[in-house]
Amino acid sequence: MLSEQQFQADEVHLGPDLQMWDKWAIQLLARRCRRGTVLKIRGSNDAPPPAATFVKALAGQGFQWQSPQTAIYDPTWELRSTRNPRASARPTVARCAVIGGGLAGAAVAHAMARRGWSVTVLDSHAQCAAGGSALPVGLVVPHTSVDDSPRSRLSRVGLSLTLQHAKRLLRRGEDWDDCGVLELTRDAQRQLNASPSLRKAGWLELGRSQATQQVWASELDWDHSLWHPRAGWIKPASLVRAWLAAPGIQWRGDAQVHRMERVDGVWVLYRHNADILAQAEVVVVANAMGAGPLLNELHPSWQCPEALRHQIGLLQALCGTVSHGCTSTSPCDALPPFPVNGSGSLVSLPAWLKGQTGQEGQAWFAGATYERDAAQLAHQPQQHASNLQRLQGLLPAAGHYLSHPFNTGSVDSWTGTRCVSNDRLPLVGSVDADGKSGLWISAAMGSRGLSFAALCAELLAAQLGGEPLPVEARLARSLDANRPARGKP
Ligand SMILES: Cc1cc2nc3c(=O)[nH]c(=O)nc-3n(C[C@H](O)[C@H](O)[C@H](O)COP(=O)(O)OP(=O)(O)OC[C@H]3O[C@@H](n4cnc5c(N)ncnc54)[C@H](O)[C@@H]3O)c2cc1C
Repeated sequence: MLSEQQFQADEVHLGPDLQMWDKWAIQLLARRCRRGTVLKIRGSNDAPPPAATFVKALAGQGFQWQSPQTAIYDPTWELRSTRNPRASARPTVARCAVIGGGLAGAAVAHAMARRGWSVTVLDSHAQCAAGGSALPVGLVVPHTSVDDSPRSRLSRVGLSLTLQHAKRLLRRGEDWDDCGVLELTRDAQRQLNASPSLRKAGWLELGRSQATQQVWASELDWDHSLWHPRAGWIKPASLVRAWLAAPGIQWRGDAQVHRMERVDGVWVLYRHNADILAQAEVVVVANAMGAGPLLNELHPSWQCPEALRHQIGLLQALCGTVSHGCTSTSPCDALPPFPVNGSGSLVSLPAWLKGQTGQEGQAWFAGATYERDAAQLAHQPQQHASNLQRLQGLLPAAGHYLSHPFNTGSVDSWTGTRCVSNDRLPLVGSVDADGKSGLWISAAMGSRGLSFAALCAELLAAQLGGEPLPVEARLARSLDANRPARGKP
């Protein structure tokens, strides 16, 4: 991680375990310091003093010891002037306007507000989380691949961040739960064999260990199942609301941005009738499929770079329907007590209605369809039939049990749109190459807004402020909004 970072530290805190800091790691650490960086060893007062080899290795890399717990980076040699290429581009903390009040925009707003920015979030809807993020319940589960692709690695980092936010901001059992997710996939054995380190780190287990004699489990092919202990479900709107409630964030609903232009270093955001909606030094475009029209309409004096225009031209709106309903009993033995994912998904939540109508029942959500043509969503019976078919393939017993409400038309639906990029990874970062324009983007969360929004927001804020990146630079590059895209727009 350290070798791939670009930041320059003001202060470094090490410890209490200093064993990992061998000569090579200390060399990498020194590269991330400027002259005057303070290094502190953390630990209890009665902790033994650092080992002589460690003290010597730090001194050899240019650290001058001030006390047994403190050293200052002040090498006797000249430092290269290229040491901190980003420092000059770092903007002063000021106003930030975020366009889009879904998961992507709310996560950015929260990340910027935590860093002291004054943030205004604008959305064309009156309420937040009214687009794709109005999804009633979503899965937070790592993407898996035999070659552990960037998408898989990014999804694990993103998911960990999201769950940290959920733990801090949401009510477990009401708004979210990290109860684990069962994944049914033909590739289960290959994945497990290919990922011993993930098993060791507690990311993956054989699904069989979750086997029980319950009705829903009786017909499952446990050899083709993976158990994700660090996964669960979240109600996206709850997370969006919690993020936007942070101090320093102002919500502006019914505010569709039609045009923006940069005047004397400040971005001005307009409604189509030329009303000024907001002005800010930094703007983050986080409005999913709405990003394209806005960036393509920029004032001719400041055009969107070619690579990003190409990426945006390749964005696809993939619509979908989730079928949902409520059982009359809770718990309901026919439904698994944790989410199941595969070709389709089923999430069941106990006591969904309790407190709202006084009735107790188990809510269930079966999804989801993928439609390139939004007109297909109008045929709701077809959408439900497609979800039932998926469910019967995924969990035959649960599918059999729920076929009654499906067949009697007592199933509700939620429909929404996913914004999907050419390589199914989000588009994040400065719109221009060096970040000088103050125009940034966090969009194209695809089917994984819950796994990616928090990570993209942290990455964007870290890049903007010249901070340590939350992922290796190589992984961050695979999210770069200006990465080359394959295919014709
Ligand atoms: C059927 C379905 C199932 C899904 N299941 C899951 C799941 O299980 N797990 C998961 O992680 N993800 C899931 N997703 C994906 C997830 O919902 C999205 O990734 C996520 O909501 C995207 O968030 P966003 O903020 O980028 O977009 P949105 O939530 O769509 O927000 C964009 C906002 O921008 C606003 N806007 C647009 N243009 C303008 C403008 N010009 N001015 C002002 N405001 C504007 C819109 O009003 C909207 O509120 C699913 C999606 C669908 C459709």
